[in-house]
Amino acid sequence: MTELLYQTDSYLKQFDATITSVLMTERAILLDRTAFYPGGGGQPCDFGTLTIEGTTYPVEKVKKQGEDVLHFLGGDLPLPSVGTAMRGTLDWARRYELMRTHTALHVLCGTIFRDYGAHVTGGDMQPLKGRLDFEFETMRGELVREIEVAINKEVAQSREIRVKILPRDEAFQIPDLIRTKINLLPEGILHVRTVEIVGLDLQADGGTHVHNTSEVGKIRVADYKSKGAINKRIYIELE
Ligand SMILES: [Zn+2]
Repeated sequence: MTELLYQTDSYLKQFDATITSVLMTERAILLDRTAFYPGGGGQPCDFGTLTIEGTTYPVEKVKKQGEDVLHFLGGDLPLPSVGTAMRGTLDWARRYELMRTHTALHVLCGTIFRDYGAHVTGGDMQPLKGRLDFEFETMRGELVREIEVAINKEVAQSREIRVKILPRDEAFQIPDLIRTKINLLPEGILHVRTVEIVGLDLQADGGTHVHNTSEVGKIRVADYKSKGAINKRIYIELE
């Protein structure tokens, strides 16, 4: 089981850990703890390096497998052995762009629910750009400007972002979480991680976010697409 350091400290750029398992054919390393985000909830995985006894290996992919996080190493250098200490370093520029983008998407989600009552059905992101799909029957081209103004106003409010890990029973009592379909979480999950943009949005979320909306910067609504009468897709870009 890998301790997920990014869940409680999304600003951790470097960390020390011990190798708990080595998968030779996949060139994958398991650690007792990690700051690498393994991907999920629309946020892509981190890249970076592992430095082990003076040798630096590129981390080309990170993936969650059950309770473990697999770090896939590039190159063809011989792999280290179990029990070795190592230092992990994130590609921080990329991760921080993803944090800003992820928070921007929650700003969009919270603003659109508040102003139009539309629910999110899906989404995806890359550094500095992303999209969300909404059940948003009344969405039309003229609203693009209006939405862009509204979300940038929320960013400018410098709203704090609070992350909590709550017991399942407690989380299931919170109306905002019920609205965002918390009931779809698998039975076995005993704790729910929540991400709150204070005064705007609260949802169950495993991703990494900035501490304050002021870090997001200017958001542009880049495009929107109708995916049918009800379903509308909204694209954003960050500067
Ligand atoms: Zn999210």
